Order: sequence, then structure tokens, then C-alpha cells
Amino acid sequence: MKVQTLIIGAGAAGMMCAAHAGPGVLVVDHARAAGEKIRISGGGRCNFTNLHTAADNFISQNRHFAKSALGRYTQWDFIALVDAHRIPWHEKTLGQLFCDTSAKDVIAMLRAEMVRARAELWLDTQLGEIGHDGTDFTVTLTRNGRDQAVTARNLVVASGGKSIPKMGATGLGYQIAARFGLPLVTPRPGLVPLTFSDERFKPLAGVAAPARVTAGGTGFDEALLFTHRGLSGPAVLQASSYWDEGDPISVNLTPGTDLLGALQGHRHSDPRKALTTILSLYLPARLVDYLAEGLTLTGTMADQSDARLATICAALADWQVTPSGSEGYRTAEVTLGGVDTDALSSQTMAAKAVPGLYFIGECVDVTGWLGGYNFQWAWSSGWAAGQAIRQGQGGS
Ligand SMILES: Cc1cc2nc3c(=O)[nH]c(=O)nc-3n(C[C@H](O)[C@H](O)[C@H](O)COP(=O)(O)OP(=O)(O)OC[C@H]3O[C@@H](n4cnc5c(N)ncnc54)[C@H](O)[C@@H]3O)c2cc1C
Repeated sequence: MKVQTLIIGAGAAGMMCAAHAGPGVLVVDHARAAGEKIRISGGGRCNFTNLHTAADNFISQNRHFAKSALGRYTQWDFIALVDAHRIPWHEKTLGQLFCDTSAKDVIAMLRAEMVRARAELWLDTQLGEIGHDGTDFTVTLTRNGRDQAVTARNLVVASGGKSIPKMGATGLGYQIAARFGLPLVTPRPGLVPLTFSDERFKPLAGVAAPARVTAGGTGFDEALLFTHRGLSGPAVLQASSYWDEGDPISVNLTPGTDLLGALQGHRHSDPRKALTTILSLYLPARLVDYLAEGLTLTGTMADQSDARLATICAALADWQVTPSGSEGYRTAEVTLGGVDTDALSSQTMAAKAVPGLYFIGECVDVTGWLGGYNFQWAWSSGWAAGQAIRQGQGGS
């Protein structure tokens, strides 16, 4: 069988590309349904983009790489598409846009766009050998127990990262990159809870607080959540993408609060109250109890000197803890690293050295922050490759 374009992966990026790549597109996926990660994303409501999307919200060895695709297919373009399909949506917080009803609306929209573009979809299909004669790619596919060789002028790799293997993530894209000699930035889990082997936060499991969590010089003001195994919540997930194993993270438990001024006021108005009682007005009481021993939070407010209060406030504003690891790919929302962008055209997502070979979405070394950025990268990069293929650029 011969097609113009074979797309590996019917996820966010693959379906978007299929809708724009012109005639003769076949999308294959080993899963039984398309867009499984879209379906579970955003708690079932899919945080499909972010109003504030800009290249600064992405991590990559080349921080300029994402600009071209993000600038040519923007969050506004995707919102227009969602509106054209009459999908109701709302902004939740921080520019994050979610479906009102269900993430399945986004999958149905992409499937409809694929049907409109006459792109074919084969699910439950296994990939075998990939050959290349310098012009065409030949891929052996197994479907319904039968092997079939498919020849394609363009091969688009949209097979995602390694996150959540239970949902079918395989890291196939990295193998294909290696097969064609493309360099990789070592993949690792991102947007992932951090763990402590001594389970020191077990007594605090379930406690949440606003915090600024900083790792690798980048800080995020969002919620922090203590878990049986360590730290989670949006602030920690965000910071995890900047965290290097062995390094401490800094937790500011009183972001945007003049705690010192407030405590000095309480010393005046509530001199007989215990320091821990007053601190519990500003922090969860269980957290204050937990910190009391390490920070020697003893005595009444009247007992506290200015210097002592300043020391406590400084400790709460820069609480340093060193995670022993992360929950890994089992729960990571994304995979950092991937196909080195040096090997790709930022305009077309095509491999510079292999005409007709494209990498899009999460398998590329472009990883977004939490908040709809990763889907926007999937839409933008998928669109960029689709456009290039339709217009016959990128070496095809
Ligand atoms: C729990 C969770 C929630 C998330 N929520 C959000 C959110 O709300 N907003 C946001 O922006 N991002 C979110 N993300 C991240 C987002 O889902 C991904 O960044 C995005 O799906 C990447 O798109 P992709 O098309 O590159 O890869 P994927 O969507 O992962 O698609 C890859 C496809 O390739 C297929 N595939 C993989 N290996 C093979 C193989 N060997 N053979 C054949 N097919 C293969 C897979 O079955 C899959 O269909 C979430 C991720 C998770 C895990």
C-alpha cells in the first residue's frame, strides 16, 4: 500500500497534523482509541491551551526553537477552531482554558477535522521495521493479525513521550530518531511529584498551602500539596521540570505575605498567645505543628524578639528540602528532553538530514509548563508539519 504521508501516533499532535497535511494521509496507533491522553487530561475536561502561551513557557535546550510554530499557529487559532466546533469552554485560572463538558469534545473535533481532510486512521496497529531508500519510507504494520507494508513519501513521528506507560507511551519516537541518526536530549520525567525516601511528609499527607517553589533558579507561585511519599501540587509539578536529582528545592511558605510585619503586630495585640497559634493563622495548623520542632517554635508572642521573628520568617520563606527522587514516568504528565531541536527545522519540524521525516509534539525536546502549554505545542508543531507537507516543503 502506498500513501503520501504516514503519521505514527493518533494523539494530539498526530491528529492535528493529519487534519492539515493534505491528501493521502494514514495515521496509525497501537492504542484501541485515538487521543487517549486528551481524554484523561485536565481531570477529563482537557486544559487545551493557555491564553498566555509564549516561548518562555517551554523548556528546551534551544529556547528559541518553539517560537516559529507557536507564532504561526497560536492559542487564538486553536480557540477559533474550538469555537467553530461549538465546544463550550471556560478559563479556570492563570489563562488555562478547559472544556465545560468533556475532553471527548476535543477528540471528536480532531476526528471530524481528520474526516474532513480525508485522513485515514488505523488503530490497534503495531509497528515493525522502518526502511528508507532515500526517497520513500517503508513501514511494516501489523493489523488484525496481518502484516502489511506501507510505503510513504513523508513519515511523521507523533508518538509522544514515555510518560504513563500504562496508557501506551513507549518512547518509540526516540528509537526512530536513533534509527535515522538524530541526536537526543536525554528524556526524563517532567511535571511529576517529588519523593522523599524517608517518607518524612507522611504526617502531613493531604495538607495543601499556597507556596512559591523554586528549582534550578525558576520559581512557581501555586498550590503545594503534601503526600504520603513527598511533595506534589501544581507548584511542585512545575518546579520538578527544572529540578536536577540531588539538588535541593526552595519552598517559600509565605509568598506575597509580610509575615514579619504581621507577627510584630500580633506580638502587640496577642502577647499571651502561643507563637504556633498565631502562625496557624497564616499556615495550615498541621504544617506549623510539623515545623515546630525543627524551627523551635516555642513560647508566646511576647517571648519573641524582632531578631527571632525575622529568623523564623526567613526560614519559612526559604525552606530547603532535597527530594530523593520523583514518581517517575508512572505519573509524570510529560517527558522532558527528546529529539534534539538542532536536528530539526523550526519552521517545518522536518529532520534536516532526512528529507520527508518529521517529529512533532512531545517526542521533541520542547516541554511546556503545566497549564495547557503542552497541548498548544502539540497543536502548533502538528500544524507546522502538516502545512509544510501540504505545501511540499521540508524535503518531501
Ligand atoms: C494525566 C495527564 C494529564 C495531562 N493533562 C494535560 C492538560 O490538561 N493540558 C496539557 O496541555 N497537557 C496535558 N498533558 C500532557 C499532554 O497530554 C501531552 O503533552 C500531549 O498529549 C502530547 O501530545 P502528543 O501527540 O505528542 O503525544 P500523545 O498525546 O501521547 O500521543 C502519542 C500517541 O502515539 C501512540 N504511540 C505511542 N507509542 C506507539 C507505538 N509504539 N506504536 C504505535 N503508536 C504509539 C500512543 O498510543 C498515542 O496515541 C497531560 C498528560 C497526562 C499524562
